[in-house]
Amino acid sequence: MSLSMSSPRFVGRGGSTTTLENCLNGVRTMPPMNGQENETDKEAVKMVQQALVDLGYLPTYDEVDGEFGPKTSKAISRFKLDRKLLPADGVVGKKTSEALDAEFPTRPTNSGPFATFVTDKRLDDDIADLLNELRGFMFLTWAGQTADFALHELNNKNLVGIVRAANAQKIKDQINPQHHSKVDNAISMLLAGNPSTGPFAVATSFEQPNWIRGFILFRDDFLNLSTPGDERHIRTLLALAHELTHFRNRVLSRDLLSEPITADNYVDLALADNAFLASGVRTESVRKNFIEEISCRHVSWRVHQDLVIAHAEQQIVAGVIVRPHALDELKSNLTVGRLFRAVLQFAEDGANPIQIYGDNGYMSALLGPPPGNFNRQVGLWFKSVERLLFHDDPTKKNEVRDLINNEFAAAQPQFATSNAIPTGMI
Ligand SMILES: [Zn+2]
Repeated sequence: MSLSMSSPRFVGRGGSTTTLENCLNGVRTMPPMNGQENETDKEAVKMVQQALVDLGYLPTYDEVDGEFGPKTSKAISRFKLDRKLLPADGVVGKKTSEALDAEFPTRPTNSGPFATFVTDKRLDDDIADLLNELRGFMFLTWAGQTADFALHELNNKNLVGIVRAANAQKIKDQINPQHHSKVDNAISMLLAGNPSTGPFAVATSFEQPNWIRGFILFRDDFLNLSTPGDERHIRTLLALAHELTHFRNRVLSRDLLSEPITADNYVDLALADNAFLASGVRTESVRKNFIEEISCRHVSWRVHQDLVIAHAEQQIVAGVIVRPHALDELKSNLTVGRLFRAVLQFAEDGANPIQIYGDNGYMSALLGPPPGNFNRQVGLWFKSVERLLFHDDPTKKNEVRDLINNEFAAAQPQFATSNAIPTGMI
């Protein structure tokens, strides 16, 4: 019978898991004995290097490069020596993979105030841990408030739950059967995606009399691959913040969808109508998606800044960063023009705005002549972003509103003449 890895960080990683399990079963070693290497092996090497970093045998995350060089080899050797795995050479075989697996047992759960929702099957245990981790950053207002908001909304049952798609059936108990199809739709949406491009998570809302509630589902493989210290772990925290912002704006989202097509919000009314007739997708929904996505991405970006700054502050304390002014540079990252520029790029994004905000042809048509229409449209919709909810603290909300207004004022003079990114913006 063949043996399997059991620690979550080594399980479900495709070819990398196979490589490590082959080592565990004595079928091969790392580095391979015949000296050949392929892409899958590189990923497996990264997985081992990451474990060595987390165990303190490799000094920094820079070492996680997928190259089984002398440093990795030496680290393996010291790891084996400490565990009396002889010969303590720098090779990962049967005993080393077994010992590495034993170092990372199923993660002890540490969900703080979120634990009760795990019992109620409204949160998966690892999602509760993630929320509790964010809550640990209470002094960092954007990261901390995300968790605080979630806690509040779980308590008042506006937020039904946050679980991976495989566990979505569990939250159906909390939802009126007439809305169970919404859960099924969210699951299908996640399954139709892909593990590297997403969607990774979906926030869905549904209406009861006088009440709009919601739930968030995660793609299983996206969540399963998130381990502490892993880049994916940060992405999971950011996805949580992003989807919680969708949830926070569920009422406004409905309102945006019901606003008529008028010159206040659309630079080309005929085009807005025609795009709908040609595609069957309402241009109101393109606008709604656009505005909402910008808001969610902005919050997620602010949370990321928080996490980066927290990490840098820890490094200053530990003496790793000796130039604290680097941190000041990080903190003053919100220069005028950055946000508008990001929004403009989002509007143009790549070959496929259909995927990111559901463009029905309206936005892509605006890219043609006359010049300026595309920028004017982005500007108008960008301006509406200030109506959304970002933060429980009104000071922070005003901060975002001021930011949007400043950027709008700086970009506006050039809207009428050009579709290019306004000059003079940083
Ligand atoms: Zn989104």
